[in-house]
Amino acid sequence: MSLKFSLIQTTPLGGRRAQLDLSHQVVETPVFMPVGTAGSVKAVPQDIVESLGAQLILGNTYHLYLRPGHEAIRRVGGLHRFIGWPRALLTDSGGFQVFSLSQLRKVSDDGVRFRSHLDGSSHFFTPEHSMEVQIALGADIAMAFDECTEYPADRRRAEESLRLTMAWARRSLEHFRGHQHEVVWHDQLGRAQSLFGIVQGGMYHDLRRESAERLVEMDFDGYAIGGLSVGEPRELTLETIADVLPLLPPDKPRYVMGVGYPDEIEQYARMGVDMMDCVLPTRAARHGLLFTSEGRLNIKNKQYAEDQGPPDPACDCMVCHRYSRAYLRHLFQAGEALSGTLNTIHNLAYYMGIMRRVRADLQSVGHRSAAEAPS
Ligand SMILES: [Zn+2]
Repeated sequence: MSLKFSLIQTTPLGGRRAQLDLSHQVVETPVFMPVGTAGSVKAVPQDIVESLGAQLILGNTYHLYLRPGHEAIRRVGGLHRFIGWPRALLTDSGGFQVFSLSQLRKVSDDGVRFRSHLDGSSHFFTPEHSMEVQIALGADIAMAFDECTEYPADRRRAEESLRLTMAWARRSLEHFRGHQHEVVWHDQLGRAQSLFGIVQGGMYHDLRRESAERLVEMDFDGYAIGGLSVGEPRELTLETIADVLPLLPPDKPRYVMGVGYPDEIEQYARMGVDMMDCVLPTRAARHGLLFTSEGRLNIKNKQYAEDQGPPDPACDCMVCHRYSRAYLRHLFQAGEALSGTLNTIHNLAYYMGIMRRVRADLQSVGHRSAAEAPS
């Protein structure tokens, strides 16, 4: 037994309010997952990430495999225990970072040989190896090993990439099913890790359809839409999500990887996406960009040098309660470590706030439509 996914309300537009019951957390969806690349949501301690309402955070398999190493993490009790995070975790397959960060990659049907971006050492990732690493890390949700198709990709390239991703999905699933009992933690209800398949296919509708149908046949615990936010225009992201969502089983969670801006995550959540992750709120924060109810605020700007107002007057996060724009600008200008911490706390609070509001809306819209429906 793996995850349990229970729909609470659905809306006429396809939005879903649901609960995703994982070993370490009952996650209220739609959910935004902060990215904790190397076992840390950069600049923010876990207790604060928790207090902001994060239910599920993401760890990057590629980074954790290279440093400190998945066997080391297994020996110290798995990723939850290692980083002191009692709630749910998801690890990606390592595929995306192998393709975006590593050097001298060589892809074959068997897997990918690459050199570490840290020290140039040579490594070989296969679907089976990605599963081994993810089982050692022990997140609640693991992801099938895939090849993220770049944008733009011509038809032949997208077809070839999809062929690999589909073969790797099957191998990931087979290995996972044979070894998932090796996870280091024990769930009293007997639940194990879950595995999601990833829909690829570039920007070609028929390839996306083929990908979704074949993955659904394989029967994963949930489905992700990958290969988005890779430089394509936003309309194309939206179109692809709208195309793929109806092809996925309604009773399983749907995860769009690597999105997005505040208005995007809201829009996709209302369309029926249950899970999203993105480095944007944390990365932008470290560059001095704050997302607020009044739009984007670039804290570096001189106009804030003596601005005593809070970063976002409508935000009730601990940063907006206590500190001024002038102080946040000063911290950034002075290169203080606290700058990244405070900016990130606010941005995460803003993202968590959006999702809380969307969840409440979906639930009430669902109620209304249920009440209006003829009995
Ligand atoms: Zn705030």
